[in-house]
Amino acid sequence: MSQSQRQLRADRISKTPPYLFAEIDKKKAAAVARGVDLISFGIGDPDMATPPHIVAAMHEAIDDSRNHDYPPYEGTLEFREAVATWMQRRFGVSVDPVKEVMAVIGSKEAIAHIHTALVNRGDICLIPSPSYPVYRIATQFSEGIVYSLPLRESNRYLPDLGQIPNDVPDRAKIIWVNYPNNPTGAVCDLAFYEELVAFAKKHNIIICSDNAYSEMTYDGYTAPSILQVPGAKDVAIEFLSLSKAYNMTGWRLGMAVGNAELIAALGIVKTNTDSGQFKAIQKAGAVALTSSQDCISNMNAIYTERRDAMIAGLRSLGWQTEPMKGTFYVWAKVPERFSSAAAFCGHVLDETGVVLVPGNGYGDEGEGYFRAAITVSTEKIKQGIARLQEKNITYKSS
Ligand SMILES: *Cc1c(COP(=O)(O)O)cnc(C)c1O
Repeated sequence: MSQSQRQLRADRISKTPPYLFAEIDKKKAAAVARGVDLISFGIGDPDMATPPHIVAAMHEAIDDSRNHDYPPYEGTLEFREAVATWMQRRFGVSVDPVKEVMAVIGSKEAIAHIHTALVNRGDICLIPSPSYPVYRIATQFSEGIVYSLPLRESNRYLPDLGQIPNDVPDRAKIIWVNYPNNPTGAVCDLAFYEELVAFAKKHNIIICSDNAYSEMTYDGYTAPSILQVPGAKDVAIEFLSLSKAYNMTGWRLGMAVGNAELIAALGIVKTNTDSGQFKAIQKAGAVALTSSQDCISNMNAIYTERRDAMIAGLRSLGWQTEPMKGTFYVWAKVPERFSSAAAFCGHVLDETGVVLVPGNGYGDEGEGYFRAAITVSTEKIKQGIARLQEKNITYKSS
């Protein structure tokens, strides 16, 4: 970077690495320019359409001029009430739609802004590694200190709270958790959340639970909300999203729910930063949450088929990867003959046009792994596996 660029940028962003997928997009563009026909297991963006009843609700809402003005900062009461109804039906959790629910412009927005609301310079944030990159980078933007909690296969990709050195938790402000988990596909049970709430209360730490994949689960597993734990509302805020559940990533609608003081703190940042989400989108979102949820089981059946194809394919090439119970990510080991995840993913892209994501993009503990998103058809997944086979890209070298 040139000297002048360095002066132009604030310190907080000049230390930030480029957003993971911005880098991968550059490599993909270069491959396409070379004439490579890509099969992308890269970014986790649903490839299927938003269900028609939600799109129809949007059509109706957009024609109504009452939806054209600034929305209330905290979200429309109609949307917040729909969230409260859904929380009750889905998790058996009661939340006050006025004080304990806030509409957010996609959960990513709120996940970033909660750091502005809570983290002072020098505060420790306990952040899993690997994890969704936003927790770490938003901590850095707030000049907090990232303390990584390794997620390891041997502990089913749950943080080992007992392993954290004694002096750390008492100096920590927040702890992030995300189950079903991006990038590992791991899930947790309510017992883990019970342990976490007890830990947070003991050390006076705020729990930020990212539940963006709450609805994307398989094999009869249902994901809990941390708010199901009695007393969780004393210490926790949960971020939920319509993006993955209803194929609505482009619509930008999610919700923060939980402790009223935490919601109010987030609200102070948001009222001074954005002016809410388009009311028509909130109307459609309320319809998504309160009408039949059959679209979710239909989509999960499709993802199950794709997951099974991906796992069977990797197994046929020597991987011992287990099928995940949630998210649309397969997390698998990089063959030992490659020096790094980036070297492996680069080799696979160059040789086959198959896009995989190096695990270390999600934190140092992700080194030695790659992530494959099943957001393409079963047929494409099979083609991708066939390309690996043709180029002899197997787990063990033969
Ligand atoms: C996709 C994703 C989000 C953000 O989704 P939004 O579209 O911003 O609601 C949040 N957390 C994780 C772990 C994700 O993978």
